[in-house]
Amino acid sequence: MNQAKRIAILSRLREANPHPTTELRYGSPFELLIAVLLSAQATDVSVNKATATLFPVAGTPSAMLALGSEGIKSHIKSIGLFNIKAENIIKTCRILLEQHQGRVPEDRAALEALPGVGRKTANVVLNTAFGWPTIAVDTHIFRVCNRTEFAPGKDVAAVEQKLIKVVPAEFRVDCHHWLILHGRYTCIARKPRCGSCLIEDLCEFREKVYA
Ligand code: SF4
Repeated sequence: MNQAKRIAILSRLREANPHPTTELRYGSPFELLIAVLLSAQATDVSVNKATATLFPVAGTPSAMLALGSEGIKSHIKSIGLFNIKAENIIKTCRILLEQHQGRVPEDRAALEALPGVGRKTANVVLNTAFGWPTIAVDTHIFRVCNRTEFAPGKDVAAVEQKLIKVVPAEFRVDCHHWLILHGRYTCIARKPRCGSCLIEDLCEFREKVYA
């Protein structure tokens, strides 16, 4: 795909949604970090349902530790992998209190050192809580970038590298959310909605679906 097409795609996505953000509900960087931790292999809807009762009683690392692992589990047990996620939350809160004055560090290495936090989660927190121009690549973005030929790559790391190279600075901060929402609601995994796709004429996928 050439750069003029990429810019046309990003411009169209921006026009349709000038201020995109995450669908996870949160009120602070700490709540965002916990919500993203919980969202691994779970839908944002299921995470929001759990955090609607969890955050009012445990919106800080110390309140989360006071609630304890069993208390956390009672709020998140409808989410996949809830046992390990509760343990990771406890360990993460301890590190935040012991090493970061109870705050979420605005630092990639420090974020990735937290239990259960990988590159993708760190990218989401840096982008969404702190406005960094990072582009986290999840399954939706990976699919959209390969199908459309916008930024093809054999794995998420390769797609992220390509995106960093080809997305102009003016689109960088919001690119993650535009692509994720496009993948979630239009360019869906099993049957893309090409007939109602905003970028259909620019997309280079060879097997478009119109039915
Ligand atoms: S035209 Fe189809 S394959 Fe291309 S981005 Fe749109 S929904 Fe996805």
